Amino acid sequence: MALSLGLIGGGFMGKAHALAYRAAGAVFGDLPEVRLATFCDLPHDTAETLADQFGFAQATDDWQALIDDPIIDIVSITVPNALHKTIALAALAAGKHIHCEKPLSLTLPDAQEMEAAARKATGRTLVGYNYLHNPIVRLARRLIDEGEIGRPVHFRGWVDEDYQADPDLPWSWRARRADAGLGTLGDLGCHLVSMSNLMMGPIDSLVADTQIIHETRSLPDGSGEAPVENEDTASAIVRYASGAQGTLCSSRSAWGRKNKLDWEVHGTRGMITFSQERLNELQIYTADGPRDRQGFRTILAGPEHAPYGNFCPAPGHQLGFGDLKTIEVASLLRAIANGEEASPSFTDALAFESAIHAIDTSAREGRRVTL
Ligand code: NAD
Repeated sequence: MALSLGLIGGGFMGKAHALAYRAAGAVFGDLPEVRLATFCDLPHDTAETLADQFGFAQATDDWQALIDDPIIDIVSITVPNALHKTIALAALAAGKHIHCEKPLSLTLPDAQEMEAAARKATGRTLVGYNYLHNPIVRLARRLIDEGEIGRPVHFRGWVDEDYQADPDLPWSWRARRADAGLGTLGDLGCHLVSMSNLMMGPIDSLVADTQIIHETRSLPDGSGEAPVENEDTASAIVRYASGAQGTLCSSRSAWGRKNKLDWEVHGTRGMITFSQERLNELQIYTADGPRDRQGFRTILAGPEHAPYGNFCPAPGHQLGFGDLKTIEVASLLRAIANGEEASPSFTDALAFESAIHAIDTSAREGRRVTL
């Protein structure tokens, strides 16, 4: 089986997807062949340069033409959030498989519309919650399932970056809800919810507060100030369907934090902690043995943690962000080959993103929100 890829959007994630589709077959060996067919970006010159660089057969600046092309099997959507819905709905209607970056869309109704369309469509869907594919994160889930830390009772998670920390940063489209949707919740918070969901299951209800730190920012052309419409920070107290409790915090204005996606699962007999900036390590504490010998121990990722061994036969040599994207791509190719649902699908992503929109609603309306 050979599958032809059309990739739309040649920025940060476009490159990550292109590299992952190039690598997946060589890393795993047992995947359907991928033909890098069409690369789409604006303007056309840029699309041509990037198509050449990444090894795509042709370039276009017209995403609709890419979708209309019958040779394309998979459409990778790595454009800004505001374009996801239109492109995804067109690709689903054309019977394509879709690999879409997170978040699904700007608003909850739009995300719901995309999910409903995906359920009726023939193509598989996969959303770019890459951190879920980390083998050491999967080990954490297994340890919880096997009862290593007892009953999970409390989740503490936070996800921080500092790309909006500078008060002098000029205003950009990221600050306008019509273009960007949510602020830190849409960029970062949804990744944290995906982790929380994997470890603790679905959130039942939450109360939350959000904050805009700089109410206005200067326009880039110096002609005045424009309002910042979406949140810089968000904090939520959540109650899971299991009855466990949690706190989720996110900031895009946390100086010094670069990809601080950290969480802890507290259990009745121990605890697991993880930090994305050290993505090959898991810390575990279990209340076993004599008290004077108890303490956290570190599990370092290695070939025992599949599919680490597909990348490298030696433990401790470390996977990186791009490798998680390659595992993500492999999971979609396998789902297509086996006629199974991919994960996280549009349905899974809608569950994660219902939580970020609930945090926004709770903060704006000052009330507990049930999902
Ligand atoms: P980016 O600005 O770096 O790249 C966007 C690209 O889309 C640009 O090359 C732009 O020219 C292109 N583009 C815009 N309009 C287009 C159109 N009509 N037709 C074709 N190309 C068009 O953005 P990014 O950081 O790569 O973010 C893209 C998406 O990836 C966003 O949804 C973002 O939330 C998501 N993202 C995910 C992760 C992750 O960890 N999974 C990380 C960063 C970004």
